[in-house]
Amino acid sequence: MYDLRGKVALVTGAGGEKGIGRAIANRLATEGADVAVSDLEDVSREGWGGLSAVVAEIEKQDRKSLGIEADVGEEGEVEQLIRTVIDRFGKLDILVNNAGAPAGPDRVPVVDLGVDVWDTVQRVNLRGTFLCSRAAARHMIERDGGGKIINMSSVSGKKGSPRFAAYCASKFAIIGFTQSLSGELAPHDIQVNALCPGLIETERVTGMASALKPEGVSTEAYREQMVARAGSGNPVGRIGQPDDVARAAAYLASNESAFLTGLSIPVAGGSWML
Ligand code: NAD
Repeated sequence: MYDLRGKVALVTGAGGEKGIGRAIANRLATEGADVAVSDLEDVSREGWGGLSAVVAEIEKQDRKSLGIEADVGEEGEVEQLIRTVIDRFGKLDILVNNAGAPAGPDRVPVVDLGVDVWDTVQRVNLRGTFLCSRAAARHMIERDGGGKIINMSSVSGKKGSPRFAAYCASKFAIIGFTQSLSGELAPHDIQVNALCPGLIETERVTGMASALKPEGVSTEAYREQMVARAGSGNPVGRIGQPDDVARAAAYLASNESAFLTGLSIPVAGGSWML
Protein backbone atom coordinates (compact mmCIF):
# COMPACT_ATOMS: atom_id res chain seq x y z
CA MET A 1 0.00 0.00 0.00
CA TYR A 2 2.83 2.39 0.90
CA ASP A 3 5.95 2.02 -1.17
CA LEU A 4 8.93 1.93 1.18
CA ARG A 5 11.18 -0.07 -1.14
CA GLY A 6 14.77 1.15 -0.95
CA LYS A 7 14.18 2.79 2.44
CA VAL A 8 16.02 1.94 5.65
CA ALA A 9 14.20 2.17 8.97
CA LEU A 10 15.16 1.84 12.63
CA VAL A 11 12.54 1.02 15.27
CA THR A 12 13.61 1.28 18.93
CA GLY A 13 12.06 -0.79 21.73
CA ALA A 14 11.06 -3.45 19.20
CA GLY A 15 11.96 -6.69 21.03
CA GLY A 16 8.71 -7.35 22.90
CA GLU A 17 6.45 -10.18 21.77
CA LYS A 18 3.24 -8.18 21.96
CA GLY A 19 4.79 -4.72 21.63
CA ILE A 20 3.93 -1.87 19.30
CA GLY A 21 7.58 -1.80 18.16
CA ARG A 22 7.45 -5.34 16.78
CA ALA A 23 4.24 -4.55 14.88
CA ILE A 24 5.69 -1.36 13.38
CA ALA A 25 8.94 -3.05 12.37
CA ASN A 26 7.07 -5.84 10.60
CA ARG A 27 4.69 -3.44 8.90
CA LEU A 28 7.50 -1.24 7.55
CA ALA A 29 9.14 -4.40 6.20
CA THR A 30 5.85 -5.46 4.56
CA GLU A 31 5.81 -2.05 2.85
CA GLY A 32 9.28 -2.82 1.45
CA ALA A 33 11.76 -1.22 3.88
CA ASP A 34 14.84 -2.84 5.34
CA VAL A 35 14.38 -2.56 9.09
CA ALA A 36 16.88 -2.48 11.95
CA VAL A 37 15.38 -3.10 15.37
CA SER A 38 16.79 -2.24 18.75
CA ASP A 39 15.98 -2.83 22.40
CA LEU A 40 17.66 -2.64 25.77
CA GLU A 41 18.51 -6.33 25.59
CA ASP A 42 17.86 -9.22 23.24
CA VAL A 43 15.93 -11.18 25.83
CA SER A 44 14.35 -14.52 25.01
CA ARG A 45 11.42 -15.37 27.21
CA GLU A 46 9.34 -18.52 27.36
CA GLY A 47 7.98 -19.06 23.86
CA TRP A 48 9.42 -15.82 22.53
CA GLY A 49 12.86 -15.11 21.04
CA GLY A 50 13.19 -11.36 21.63
CA LEU A 51 14.89 -9.05 19.13
CA SER A 52 16.38 -12.01 17.22
CA ALA A 53 12.84 -13.30 16.59
CA VAL A 54 11.78 -9.93 15.13
CA VAL A 55 14.87 -9.92 12.89
CA ALA A 56 13.92 -13.42 11.68
CA GLU A 57 10.34 -12.27 10.93
CA ILE A 58 11.60 -9.36 8.86
CA GLU A 59 14.08 -11.51 6.97
CA LYS A 60 11.26 -13.96 6.26
CA GLN A 61 9.61 -11.11 4.37
CA ASP A 62 12.77 -10.94 2.20
CA ARG A 63 13.88 -7.66 3.76
CA LYS A 64 17.23 -7.02 5.41
CA SER A 65 17.26 -6.64 9.17
CA LEU A 66 19.60 -6.30 12.13
CA GLY A 67 18.99 -6.48 15.87
CA ILE A 68 21.01 -4.10 18.04
CA GLU A 69 21.14 -3.86 21.82
CA ALA A 70 21.21 -0.22 22.93
CA ASP A 71 19.94 1.86 25.83
CA VAL A 72 18.23 4.87 24.24
CA GLY A 73 19.03 6.94 27.34
CA GLU A 74 22.83 6.54 26.92
CA GLU A 75 24.37 9.05 24.54
CA GLY A 76 27.32 6.82 23.57
CA GLU A 77 25.10 3.80 22.94
CA VAL A 78 22.72 5.84 20.79
CA GLU A 79 25.59 7.26 18.69
CA GLN A 80 26.85 3.70 18.20
CA LEU A 81 23.33 2.46 17.37
CA ILE A 82 22.82 4.96 14.57
CA ARG A 83 26.38 4.42 13.29
CA THR A 84 25.83 0.66 13.19
CA VAL A 85 22.66 1.04 11.12
CA ILE A 86 24.38 3.38 8.67
CA ASP A 87 27.47 1.14 8.42
CA ARG A 88 25.32 -1.91 7.71
CA PHE A 89 22.65 -0.41 5.42
CA GLY A 90 24.43 2.67 4.02
CA LYS A 91 21.88 5.18 5.35
CA LEU A 92 18.89 5.77 7.61
CA ASP A 93 15.62 7.14 6.15
CA ILE A 94 13.06 6.43 8.88
CA LEU A 95 13.49 6.57 12.65
CA VAL A 96 10.69 5.37 14.94
CA ASN A 97 11.29 6.41 18.55
CA ASN A 98 9.11 3.74 20.13
CA ALA A 99 11.07 2.67 23.25
CA GLY A 100 9.21 3.42 26.45
CA ALA A 101 10.04 3.01 30.15
CA PRO A 102 8.15 0.11 31.76
CA ALA A 103 4.75 1.06 33.15
CA GLY A 104 4.25 0.22 36.79
CA PRO A 105 6.40 1.81 39.50
CA ASP A 106 5.57 5.30 38.17
CA ARG A 107 1.78 4.83 38.39
CA VAL A 108 1.49 6.31 41.90
CA PRO A 109 0.31 9.71 43.19
CA VAL A 110 2.93 12.46 42.87
CA VAL A 111 3.28 12.63 46.67
CA ASP A 112 4.52 9.02 46.57
CA LEU A 113 6.60 9.31 43.39
CA GLY A 114 10.33 8.70 43.90
CA VAL A 115 12.87 10.87 42.09
CA ASP A 116 14.59 7.81 40.66
CA VAL A 117 11.31 6.53 39.20
CA TRP A 118 10.53 9.97 37.76
CA ASP A 119 14.05 10.16 36.26
CA THR A 120 13.81 6.72 34.63
CA VAL A 121 10.61 7.66 32.82
CA GLN A 122 12.05 10.95 31.53
CA ARG A 123 15.36 9.30 30.66
CA VAL A 124 13.89 6.60 28.44
CA ASN A 125 10.89 8.39 26.97
CA LEU A 126 12.17 11.95 26.54
CA ARG A 127 15.96 11.88 26.64
CA GLY A 128 15.88 8.70 24.50
CA THR A 129 13.70 10.39 21.89
CA PHE A 130 16.00 13.43 21.89
CA LEU A 131 19.24 11.44 21.61
CA CYS A 132 18.02 9.13 18.82
CA SER A 133 16.41 12.00 16.89
CA ARG A 134 19.54 14.15 17.15
CA ALA A 135 21.84 11.41 15.89
CA ALA A 136 19.46 10.46 13.07
CA ALA A 137 18.80 14.10 12.07
CA ARG A 138 22.54 14.87 11.84
CA HIS A 139 22.91 11.98 9.39
CA MET A 140 19.75 12.84 7.42
CA ILE A 141 20.79 16.49 7.01
CA GLU A 142 24.30 15.54 5.91
CA ARG A 143 22.99 12.95 3.48
CA ASP A 144 20.52 15.44 2.01
CA GLY A 145 17.98 12.79 1.01
CA GLY A 146 15.06 13.72 3.27
CA GLY A 147 13.75 11.54 6.06
CA LYS A 148 11.05 10.70 8.56
CA ILE A 149 11.10 10.77 12.34
CA ILE A 150 8.12 9.28 14.16
CA ASN A 151 7.93 9.80 17.91
CA MET A 152 5.72 7.76 20.20
CA SER A 153 3.70 10.03 22.43
CA SER A 154 0.28 8.98 23.77
CA VAL A 155 -3.18 10.34 24.47
CA SER A 156 -1.47 10.81 27.86
CA GLY A 157 0.60 13.43 26.03
CA LYS A 158 -2.58 15.43 25.51
CA LYS A 159 -4.45 15.05 28.78
CA GLY A 160 -3.10 14.52 32.26
CA SER A 161 -4.59 11.99 34.66
CA PRO A 162 -4.04 11.01 38.28
CA ARG A 163 -1.14 8.57 38.91
CA PHE A 164 0.22 9.19 35.41
CA ALA A 165 2.24 12.37 36.20
CA ALA A 166 5.71 11.14 35.20
CA TYR A 167 4.42 9.38 32.09
CA CYS A 168 2.16 12.28 31.05
CA ALA A 169 4.97 14.81 31.58
CA SER A 170 7.27 12.79 29.30
CA LYS A 171 4.63 12.33 26.61
CA PHE A 172 3.54 16.01 26.65
CA ALA A 173 7.23 16.91 26.30
CA ILE A 174 7.61 14.61 23.30
CA ILE A 175 4.88 16.61 21.53
CA GLY A 176 6.71 19.89 22.21
CA PHE A 177 9.96 18.33 21.05
CA THR A 178 8.26 17.02 17.90
CA GLN A 179 6.84 20.44 17.04
CA SER A 180 10.18 22.21 17.59
CA LEU A 181 12.23 19.66 15.65
CA SER A 182 9.72 19.60 12.78
CA GLY A 183 10.33 23.31 12.12
CA GLU A 184 14.08 22.87 12.19
CA LEU A 185 14.06 19.90 9.80
CA ALA A 186 11.29 20.97 7.40
CA PRO A 187 13.75 22.80 5.06
CA HIS A 188 15.67 19.51 4.77
CA ASP A 189 12.58 17.57 3.64
CA ILE A 190 12.53 15.65 6.91
CA GLN A 191 9.08 15.26 8.46
CA VAL A 192 8.77 14.83 12.21
CA ASN A 193 5.46 13.66 13.65
CA ALA A 194 4.18 12.02 16.82
CA LEU A 195 1.63 9.24 17.25
CA CYS A 196 -0.62 9.36 20.31
CA PRO A 197 -2.11 5.91 20.91
CA GLY A 198 -4.93 5.30 23.34
CA LEU A 199 -4.86 2.07 25.32
CA ILE A 200 -3.22 -0.59 23.14
CA GLU A 201 -3.23 -4.31 23.96
CA THR A 202 0.46 -4.93 24.80
CA GLU A 203 2.53 -6.31 27.70
CA ARG A 204 2.57 -2.80 29.16
CA VAL A 205 -1.14 -3.03 30.03
CA THR A 206 -0.31 -5.83 32.48
CA GLY A 207 2.26 -3.58 34.18
CA MET A 208 -0.32 -0.82 34.43
CA ALA A 209 -2.95 -3.19 35.86
CA SER A 210 -0.50 -4.52 38.44
CA ALA A 211 0.28 -0.98 39.64
CA LEU A 212 -3.27 0.39 39.56
CA LYS A 213 -5.35 -2.57 40.86
CA PRO A 214 -7.22 -2.08 44.11
CA GLU A 215 -6.19 -4.28 47.05
CA GLY A 216 -7.61 -7.78 46.87
CA VAL A 217 -8.07 -7.77 43.07
CA SER A 218 -5.70 -9.86 40.95
CA THR A 219 -3.64 -8.23 38.20
CA GLU A 220 -5.30 -10.42 35.58
CA ALA A 221 -8.83 -9.56 36.75
CA TYR A 222 -8.04 -5.85 36.89
CA ARG A 223 -6.40 -5.99 33.47
CA GLU A 224 -9.59 -7.49 32.04
CA GLN A 225 -11.65 -4.75 33.72
CA MET A 226 -9.37 -2.03 32.33
CA VAL A 227 -9.55 -3.40 28.81
CA ALA A 228 -13.33 -3.90 28.98
CA ARG A 229 -13.90 -0.39 30.39
CA ALA A 230 -11.65 1.31 27.83
CA GLY A 231 -13.20 -0.75 25.02
CA SER A 232 -16.82 -0.04 25.90
CA GLY A 233 -15.99 3.67 26.35
CA ASN A 234 -14.45 3.83 22.89
CA PRO A 235 -16.69 4.83 19.94
CA VAL A 236 -15.22 1.93 17.95
CA GLY A 237 -16.12 -0.46 20.78
CA ARG A 238 -12.67 -1.89 21.44
CA ILE A 239 -9.21 -0.88 22.55
CA GLY A 240 -6.39 -0.62 20.03
CA GLN A 241 -4.11 -3.37 18.79
CA PRO A 242 -0.42 -2.90 17.93
CA ASP A 243 -1.29 -3.18 14.22
CA ASP A 244 -3.57 -0.12 14.52
CA VAL A 245 -0.52 1.92 15.49
CA ALA A 246 1.66 0.19 12.88
CA ARG A 247 -0.69 1.23 10.07
CA ALA A 248 -0.49 4.87 11.13
CA ALA A 249 3.29 4.62 11.40
CA ALA A 250 3.51 3.18 7.88
CA TYR A 251 1.59 6.19 6.56
CA LEU A 252 3.83 8.66 8.38
CA ALA A 253 6.90 6.79 7.12
CA SER A 254 5.74 7.05 3.49
CA ASN A 255 5.83 9.80 0.90
CA GLU A 256 2.01 9.94 1.13
CA SER A 257 2.48 12.09 4.26
CA ALA A 258 5.07 14.42 2.69
CA PHE A 259 3.16 17.63 3.59
CA LEU A 260 2.42 16.60 7.18
CA THR A 261 4.88 17.61 9.85
CA GLY A 262 4.85 18.67 13.50
CA LEU A 263 1.62 16.78 14.15
CA SER A 264 0.62 14.64 17.12
CA ILE A 265 -2.01 12.24 15.84
CA PRO A 266 -4.31 10.28 18.16
CA VAL A 267 -4.54 6.58 17.29
CA ALA A 268 -7.42 6.00 19.63
CA GLY A 269 -10.52 4.90 17.71
CA GLY A 270 -12.20 8.26 18.25
CA SER A 271 -11.87 8.20 22.04
CA TRP A 272 -9.61 11.24 21.74
CA MET A 273 -9.73 13.68 18.83
CA LEU A 274 -7.41 16.61 19.59
P1 NAD B 1 6.24 -2.03 25.94
O1 NAD B 1 6.54 -1.63 27.35
O2 NAD B 1 5.61 -3.35 25.65
O3 NAD B 1 7.55 -1.88 25.04
C1 NAD B 1 8.52 -0.89 25.25
C2 NAD B 1 9.85 -1.41 24.78
O4 NAD B 1 10.85 -0.42 25.08
C3 NAD B 1 10.26 -2.71 25.48
O5 NAD B 1 10.65 -3.67 24.52
C4 NAD B 1 11.42 -2.29 26.36
O6 NAD B 1 12.40 -3.29 26.56
C5 NAD B 1 11.98 -1.10 25.56
N1 NAD B 1 12.81 -0.24 26.40
C6 NAD B 1 12.58 0.14 27.68
N2 NAD B 1 13.60 0.91 28.12
C7 NAD B 1 14.48 1.02 27.09
C8 NAD B 1 15.74 1.68 26.94
N3 NAD B 1 16.29 2.39 27.94
N4 NAD B 1 16.37 1.58 25.74
C9 NAD B 1 15.82 0.87 24.73
N5 NAD B 1 14.65 0.22 24.82
C10 NAD B 1 13.99 0.30 25.99
O7 NAD B 1 5.38 -0.85 25.38
P2 NAD B 1 4.31 -0.78 24.20
O8 NAD B 1 2.96 -0.87 24.83
O9 NAD B 1 4.67 -1.65 23.06
O10 NAD B 1 4.52 0.75 23.84
C11 NAD B 1 5.46 1.22 22.91
C12 NAD B 1 5.44 2.74 22.94
O11 NAD B 1 4.09 3.19 22.76
C13 NAD B 1 5.91 3.33 24.28
O12 NAD B 1 6.64 4.51 24.03
C14 NAD B 1 4.61 3.63 25.00
O13 NAD B 1 4.75 4.67 25.94
C15 NAD B 1 3.72 4.05 23.84
N6 NAD B 1 2.28 3.89 24.13
C16 NAD B 1 1.76 2.68 24.49
C17 NAD B 1 0.39 2.59 24.79
C18 NAD B 1 -0.25 1.30 25.22
O14 NAD B 1 -1.40 1.34 25.69
N7 NAD B 1 0.38 0.16 25.08
C19 NAD B 1 -0.42 3.74 24.68
C20 NAD B 1 0.16 4.94 24.29
C21 NAD B 1 1.51 5.00 24.02
